[in-house]
Amino acid sequence: MKITRKILYFILTTYKNAMEFTFPHTCICCDKSIEKEKIFCDDCFSKIPFVEGTLCYRCGRKLNLLPINEKMLCADCLNKRPIYDKARAAFQYNTVSKSCILKFKNTGRMDYKKQFVALLEQAGKDLFLETDIIMPVPLHWRRKVSRGYNQAGVIGKALSKKIKIPYTDKILIRSRHTPKQEKKTNKERHKNVKNAFMVKKPRKIKNKTVLLIDDVLTTGATVNTCAKALKKAGAQTVFVLTIAHTTREKDL
Ligand SMILES: [Zn+2]
Ligand SMILES: [Zn+2]
Repeated sequence: MKITRKILYFILTTYKNAMEFTFPHTCICCDKSIEKEKIFCDDCFSKIPFVEGTLCYRCGRKLNLLPINEKMLCADCLNKRPIYDKARAAFQYNTVSKSCILKFKNTGRMDYKKQFVALLEQAGKDLFLETDIIMPVPLHWRRKVSRGYNQAGVIGKALSKKIKIPYTDKILIRSRHTPKQEKKTNKERHKNVKNAFMVKKPRKIKNKTVLLIDDVLTTGATVNTCAKALKKAGAQTVFVLTIAHTTREKDL
């Protein structure tokens, strides 16, 4: 039987509805039922530490200071300038936001994609005007196969569509498989990702501003290594946008 467009549409919508029925929309942190357009229930929302106030110009972490000028830096960035130029995040990493990101990362529930994109859109609004191209921090193909997708790619692509800035996951490539960064010290993290990334078609990023997307910014070891590879290949500026970042005390 020839499958017409109509039949295909019917099959797809039935499947989509069945999936929605199987997964009622719930709070990403605690599984309480919530309205479709939300991501957290009111209780969890009140526990999410959104990043606001005076921020470090580079890493985007909150400064407990009154703004004197727009280029104020935190002690860490003053001490050692990151290789990326600016990083911004929607919220800080705490037990509530951690559970929400882990769930998004590990369960394959992509029905939260839209809400995460809205959070990134808000957090990264100062970066988009100068951005030429969006790309995700790449996963090695082995991890991508085992997980089925790259969550940074999923939200990066959706963000690109929303803000109309081109997206690619074909330029920055993870050239070798690296063990997970979690539970590693700062030094071990840097060693772990050293030379793990390469750039294909460098002419496509020459003198361009790249916006890197990832889920969490911790010590910055991974994004700094990516930024190093991108800049070596000719990128002028590298921005980083993540769903969350750790505060310094909880880095390790
Ligand atoms: Zn909740
Ligand atoms: Zn900083």
